[in-house]
Amino acid sequence: MKHSIELDIGNVMNKLICPYCKSSQLMSHIYEKVDQYLFNGNIVCLSCHKQYPIVNGIFYMHPIKCRGTKHNWNKHYCLRKVNVDVRHFSDIRTFLTYFSLGRLAIKSGIRCNNSIEIGSGTGTYSLWLKKLKIINNAYLVDVSENAIKASQELFRELDEKAYFVLADGLALPFRDKSFDLSLSGGLIEHFDEEERQNIVHEHCRVSNKVLCQIPLNNPAYWVGRYLQCLFYRGWPFGYEKPSSLREIEKMFSAENFLVEFVSYHDLLTAAAFRLSKKFCERNPLKNKGYVNKIFRHEVVVYAYERHNRNKRHAYEKKF
Ligand SMILES: [Zn+2]
Repeated sequence: MKHSIELDIGNVMNKLICPYCKSSQLMSHIYEKVDQYLFNGNIVCLSCHKQYPIVNGIFYMHPIKCRGTKHNWNKHYCLRKVNVDVRHFSDIRTFLTYFSLGRLAIKSGIRCNNSIEIGSGTGTYSLWLKKLKIINNAYLVDVSENAIKASQELFRELDEKAYFVLADGLALPFRDKSFDLSLSGGLIEHFDEEERQNIVHEHCRVSNKVLCQIPLNNPAYWVGRYLQCLFYRGWPFGYEKPSSLREIEKMFSAENFLVEFVSYHDLLTAAAFRLSKKFCERNPLKNKGYVNKIFRHEVVVYAYERHNRNKRHAYEKKF
């Protein structure tokens, strides 16, 4: 049974801005409605008169180009791969391999209505948070059309509702602080130093709470990467540079955000979740027994905005 709740266009329009002129004076026209998920129309900017199509429920807010990496993410998320993933993701054990972000969200006490996942790929992190009832309305944003279509397909198959927006994570078409939470996993490491700060800036601009999962620059990461290179016969994820926790804290500090909670993703716990159905039944998010420091290869941080009137930004927004 599909959700009876319809996607709320008004909710989207209250958040969107024109990606070119940054105006919030936008008007939407829905001229065809196939069902509650699939509708066609467009959005017109009343300031610069640019038009943005809505095709099959996806908002095409014109990414300028795929920046930050030469990697072809659109090819990466080919639809053929996604059809397999739909079956794969309906297994709770698959969700549990993403346990760190969910556990940190519970620990930090987040409960929010509107969230945005930047560089959402197949939207797995948002799916996890929806399953845990931490978020309600999930906005998924990616620069790759195939990734967005893949996540839409996945959400439909798993009977979950979300808003799908094709846009550039370095220049999000959303108003300041229009979300209760911004999140990303496996995104920041794909940008070089300067763009990395810029993408953190965008996380912090659209929300005052941020959840991020980022690879750690440690031996576990490099061993894992080496093994993946052997498995895939080369590195399949384009430019990727892991960070230290100190570097991550510095990036958030430049945006006047404070990293309050930290959690680690380790391969041993992930493998235990993946292999054991019994283990999953015993509320694994509360179980810390398997967390092993040696296998830690990614860190999850929860950062929130410091309440400071003399807020300064280390980086000027360039777009
Ligand atoms: Zn405009």
